[in-house]
Amino acid sequence: MLMHSGTNYQTINSSGEPWIASLILWGEKDDLVYSAAVVGAGPAGSMAARLLSEMGHRVLLIDRKEVVGVPKQCAEGLFAGCLPEFSPSSGDFLRGEIRYLQIVFPNLSSYRVRCDLLMLDRPRFDQHLLKMAERSGAEVALGEKVERVHPESGELLLRGGGVIRAEVIIGADGPVSRVAKSFGLKNRLVPAAQVEMTWQKDDAIYAYLDHDLPKSPYSCWIFPKNERGTANVGCFGTVPALEAFISKYKIEGEVIEKNGGAIPLGVAERLQRGRAVLIGDAGGLTNPFTGGGLYPAARSARIAAEAIDRFLRGETETIEYEPRMRRDFVASDLHLKARDALAPLSNDELCRLGTAMDGLVFPGLKLSASPWLVLRGLRHPGIMRPKYAPLLKLLFRYCLAGKVW
Ligand SMILES: Cc1cc2nc3c(=O)[nH]c(=O)nc-3n(C[C@H](O)[C@H](O)[C@H](O)COP(=O)(O)OP(=O)(O)OC[C@H]3O[C@@H](n4cnc5c(N)ncnc54)[C@H](O)[C@@H]3O)c2cc1C
Repeated sequence: MLMHSGTNYQTINSSGEPWIASLILWGEKDDLVYSAAVVGAGPAGSMAARLLSEMGHRVLLIDRKEVVGVPKQCAEGLFAGCLPEFSPSSGDFLRGEIRYLQIVFPNLSSYRVRCDLLMLDRPRFDQHLLKMAERSGAEVALGEKVERVHPESGELLLRGGGVIRAEVIIGADGPVSRVAKSFGLKNRLVPAAQVEMTWQKDDAIYAYLDHDLPKSPYSCWIFPKNERGTANVGCFGTVPALEAFISKYKIEGEVIEKNGGAIPLGVAERLQRGRAVLIGDAGGLTNPFTGGGLYPAARSARIAAEAIDRFLRGETETIEYEPRMRRDFVASDLHLKARDALAPLSNDELCRLGTAMDGLVFPGLKLSASPWLVLRGLRHPGIMRPKYAPLLKLLFRYCLAGKVW
């Protein structure tokens, strides 16, 4: 919401209270300047705003929505090992715990991996992170759409014509990012369709691999939310693929919500230009293998905040973000390679793989589990083929990291 009065604009913060920003018009450059302007108050933006405010910088956090986190565009799963990246991270956003990840093949063979996964209430989670940013001192402007940014000058042009200046711009505006567009970039995206439906209590989340559904989605999922008696049922693909999945596997329940969104497929070609950086989905940092983007959102926010802090303090001449981010395993191309290794398999091949693994229960993604994994694999030579190498490498790297996301 924006009300114009001269060069002052009145908008709202997350508590619905008025917030006055002295916005400047093009050409009037001596006005209010922020150390950092963060575009997008999703998990990535709120984290970055909070960290930079805690470091003592003047931060403006802008979102086009008046209430962040809605509509939900998430299956709401977060592996427990990833939560500390959001630290301190307690609040009323947890909606149950899950003990296993179960991979299901088209012939219904399956294997399980022991893991601790937290189910979130994603709107509350986003709102909690926003509150924390606000509490740490970040100024928040909701209901404000950023139309364009100038990475070299640090200017942001708002819908309605207002202009904000900042020493650094953080693009945290999701998969279809305006900030990325201002770099001349367009993220490669895959659609994701989802419904929330009634569901029984469960101890696992399910990933179904099926390459015979319309437009061959690479995988579908069921994420039970035990405390709510529902599950998020979705797929990498469009609504017809989701409907085909629900019908083929006789997934039954009453649909209480339809949602969906887009998931980036691979890290953006550039993550910074001039005074601007891209974090979270805006930088294409979501894991293209699992679709998990919450952990990369927090991780990239932290790496960006540290680099920007050093730049603002004059310790570095440029923002040393991109090289550091690209070295991080979150941005590794192994996730995409593993996805590309799995995607062309026919349903027959998937079924053979499933039959080889059927009934196995992996003790967890810990390094100590990997000799066990290799021994099991050697007993099923079908799994140890070169074409599966990226998949096995990725599994090993997750074990090394002690988590998947
Ligand atoms: C169907 C689906 C299921 C998923 N399930 C999971 C899951 O279970 N676990 C997981 O870890 N990840 C999951 N993800 C991915 C995860 O939701 C994203 O990776 C995550 O939201 C990225 O956070 P972000 O802050 O980068 O972007 P977003 O959460 O997209 O936030 C971007 C913010 O920017 C704002 N914005 C956009 N444009 C502008 C603009 N021009 N001006 C001002 N504000 C703007 C938006 O309003 C929004 O609030 C899923 C994604 C989808 C689509």
